[in-house]
Amino acid sequence: MVRQPSPLPSVDALLRAPETQVLLIRFGRTAVTAALRDCLSAHRRLLPAAVPAARIIDEAADQLSARFARSQRLVFNMTGTVLHTNLGRALLPPEAAEAAAEAMRNATNLEFDLASGRRGERDDHVAGLLRALTGAEAATVVNNNAAAVMLVLNTLALGKEVPVSRGELIEIGGAFRVPDIMARSGAILREVGTTNRTHARDYAAAIGPATGALMRVHQANFAIVGFTASVPAETLGALAHDAGLPLIEDLGSGSLVDLAQWGLPHERTPRESLTAGVGVVTFSGDKLLGGPQAGLIVGHEEVISSINRNPLKRALRLDKGRLAALEIVLRMYLDPQRLAERLPALRLLTRSEAEVRATAERICPVVAERWPDRAVEVRTCRSQIGSGALPIDMLPSAAVAIGGKSLEELANFLRSLPRPIIGRIAQGRLFLDCRCLEPGDEAAFIAQLR
Ligand SMILES: *Cc1c(COP(=O)(O)O)cnc(C)c1O
Repeated sequence: MVRQPSPLPSVDALLRAPETQVLLIRFGRTAVTAALRDCLSAHRRLLPAAVPAARIIDEAADQLSARFARSQRLVFNMTGTVLHTNLGRALLPPEAAEAAAEAMRNATNLEFDLASGRRGERDDHVAGLLRALTGAEAATVVNNNAAAVMLVLNTLALGKEVPVSRGELIEIGGAFRVPDIMARSGAILREVGTTNRTHARDYAAAIGPATGALMRVHQANFAIVGFTASVPAETLGALAHDAGLPLIEDLGSGSLVDLAQWGLPHERTPRESLTAGVGVVTFSGDKLLGGPQAGLIVGHEEVISSINRNPLKRALRLDKGRLAALEIVLRMYLDPQRLAERLPALRLLTRSEAEVRATAERICPVVAERWPDRAVEVRTCRSQIGSGALPIDMLPSAAVAIGGKSLEELANFLRSLPRPIIGRIAQGRLFLDCRCLEPGDEAAFIAQLR
C-alpha cells in the first residue's frame, strides 16, 4: 500500500514557516496551532487540492485577529441620548477612571482601618460623602439601583406587603419591572389606586398587620398627564410614620444637585426626598450623578444598618475599582461651581446649542466629502438626557443629517468602522447628533472618515 502524499502542508511545517513566527509572538503557540489546524481541516473538507502554506497562514492570521479582537470597543455616541444605557451611560471624569485603574492594579485599604490596623468597612470610603451630600443619617452602596431596590425590599419587607400606586408600576427597559423585582425580593406587591389617580386614602386602606413598608417609585421614563393625582412624599411619609412603617423611594436617576441652576429641568434630589419624610432612598450612580455603575442607598441609620447586615448585601457589593471612582466623583460635588466643567455627564448635558452646532459645522464638510452623492447638512435637533431621566424635556442640539437612499446600509457601514459611529434614523435622514462629540474627539472622528 502506498499512501497518497497529502497535498496540504503539515501543521509542523506551517508552525516552522517564517510567516508564522510573528503570529506565535503575538498570539502564542496554543492559539496559533489551533487556528492552523482549523484552516487545514477546512481545506481538507473541500478538495484534496494543493494549497500554498502562505495562504493557510494568512487565513489563520485572519481568524486569530478576529478571535483576539476586543468585543467591547469605543464608539462615537451620536444618538443624541447623553446617558445611553446601551452605550454605557455616564462617562467618567479622567481622575475617576484613573483612580479606578490604580485601585485595581494595586492593594488598597479597601476594608482595612489604617488607624487601628483592624478590619474596616468598604462603604466607609463613600458613606461620609453621601451623608454630607444628601443630609442622610447613613448610606450604603451596591452594584446598581436595581440591586439597591431589591436589597431594600428584601431587608424591610420579606414576606410582607408593600403598597405601591398602580401609576408607579413601571418598566425601565426590559429587565427592570417593579412588580418583578418586588416578587424576586420576596416582598408582596399590594397595588393601590389607579393608573392615573392614587390618593392617600388608597394607601391608608391598604395598610394592615401584613404591611412591611410603603414604596414610591419615580415615574422615570414617562409622564402621566391630564386627570391625574398622586400622593406627595410628605403625605405618604406622615402616613408611614403614623403606621410605624418605613417609606422607601426609588428615585431612579436622582441628581445630587438642583439641575435648574444649569438651565436643565429640575430632577428630584435624594435630599428633597429625605426632607419630605422618606426613610430610605435608592438611586443610580451612572445616570445623572455622572459616576460609575452603582446603586446608592441613603436613609435612617437603623434601616441602613439592617441593610448592611442582610447576607444579600455581600452578593451585591461594589468592587474597589468602582468604589474608588465613585469616591472621586462624589468629592467633585463638594465644589459645585466647577461641576459642569469637570463632570462629563453634566458637561455634555449643559453644552449650549451654539457649541454643539459649531462642532456639527466643522465635521459636516468631512461627511459631505465622504458621501458626495448624498445630501449632507447641519440640522437643528433635540438631544435627550436618557436613562429614563426627565423623559419629556429635550435639549436643543445640532446634528449632521445625511439624506439619500438606503440609510440602513449607511448606518450599517458607520457601525462597521474601527470606532463605530452610532447615529439615529429619523425623518428620512441619518442624524449624527454632535452633543456628545466633544472637541477632543473631533480629530479622531474626522481622521476615521477620511
Ligand atoms: C434606572 C432605574 C432603575 C434601575 O437602575 P440601574 O442603576 O439601571 O439598576 C430603577 N428604578 C428607576 C426608577 C430607574 O429610573
